Amino acid sequence: METPLTRHISFDRPPYNLSDYEKTGGYQALRKALTAMGPADITKTVQESDLKGRGGAGFNTGMKWSFVPMTGDHPIKYLICNADEMEPGTFKDRMLMEGNPHQLIEGMIISAFAIQANISYIFLRWAYKKAARLLRHAIDEAYAAGYLGKNILGTGYNLEMYLHTGVGRYICGEETALLNALEGKRATPRTKPPFPQISGLFGKPTIVNNVETFCNIPHIINNGPDWFKSLGGGSDAGTKIYGISGRVKRPGLWELPMGVTMRELIEVHAGGMANGYGFRGALPGGASTDFLVKEHLDVKLDFKSVAAAGSRLGTGTMIILDDHTCPVGFVHNLEHFFAQESCGWCTPCREGLPWTEKILLSIERGEGRLEDLQLLDMHTRFLGPGNTFCALAPGAMEPLQSALKYFREDFEKHINQKKCPWR
Ligand code: SF4
Repeated sequence: METPLTRHISFDRPPYNLSDYEKTGGYQALRKALTAMGPADITKTVQESDLKGRGGAGFNTGMKWSFVPMTGDHPIKYLICNADEMEPGTFKDRMLMEGNPHQLIEGMIISAFAIQANISYIFLRWAYKKAARLLRHAIDEAYAAGYLGKNILGTGYNLEMYLHTGVGRYICGEETALLNALEGKRATPRTKPPFPQISGLFGKPTIVNNVETFCNIPHIINNGPDWFKSLGGGSDAGTKIYGISGRVKRPGLWELPMGVTMRELIEVHAGGMANGYGFRGALPGGASTDFLVKEHLDVKLDFKSVAAAGSRLGTGTMIILDDHTCPVGFVHNLEHFFAQESCGWCTPCREGLPWTEKILLSIERGEGRLEDLQLLDMHTRFLGPGNTFCALAPGAMEPLQSALKYFREDFEKHINQKKCPWR
């Protein structure tokens, strides 16, 4: 099983510096892209590889790039790495940045060349201080070696790269809110269209991709689209950094073929549930996805299969709900996070999330009424897709709506027994 993204990542030794990276083939893909391929070739190769965005949206990366206007009427373009990883339970990009920062930088330079951008930013979660230190060092090394700056590899191509640390708001990970934040404005999402590929940072064509997405680029350029497709085991191409948090024997991250089953991830890689704990459900792709339960254990973790099972692959980082944990408290904790992180722009999200949180708290305390379950159902519709400006509120409703479906009896027990049955 090939693990191109993590092959050189080991936390038993310091992360790769430039010379380590070059010794294992680093920056060869950049050389190939800049000297033997044109921007259109690179975009076509990435599109043919069927690399889907690893930040959660799952859109074909090369196709996204192909929407950038490539005529001389657009001399200024930007490339941005979305490294604002802040969703509860999601920590895969941190490993990639801390473990092999040059892999990300090389992927970004190739991608910037493909859209002919001359300025690039890494928008990093403020709390990732170690990643910030390692990335700054790696960017300096890349400049010193002529991989960044003016006339890269003597080809006449110029690219500047800046590391920007955000102030720690979840909404900054939404690509248009990220653009506003980078422009120094309040981080509220923008209406689409226009899409950032046409009018993004400072109104110029802009591509925003996730860390894991960029890390795949050098490998696709080195090995070709068919190789990349052959890595996937389900309906999607490539490998994926899957993760698990919760009461399993070995919580963590694994690079596996796309389409591994939930059962294999939990029972083989994470070693199964911790002693004394049973499996009740899991959010398969981070905190803003719907629960899957025991009947879904053989679902393949690829974009289509997870959607068919009623959830989303999202970031591929699973949060486990065990049989000793109160589902009401679990969901309340998540809704508290989402209510706190609402940007306040639209009423259903700004007012509805704190209201949802309040109802859940009263149920958890044994002060709820059966009518509250109807109110919660109503919230999942009013805050659902199409009623708000961005996906934060609909995403926040996913764990709640699926908890009401799969764990309704737990909500009812709280109300009927007038206390939390887990305490
Ligand atoms: S859904 Fe929430 S976070 Fe998104 S724009 Fe509306 S208020 Fe802001």
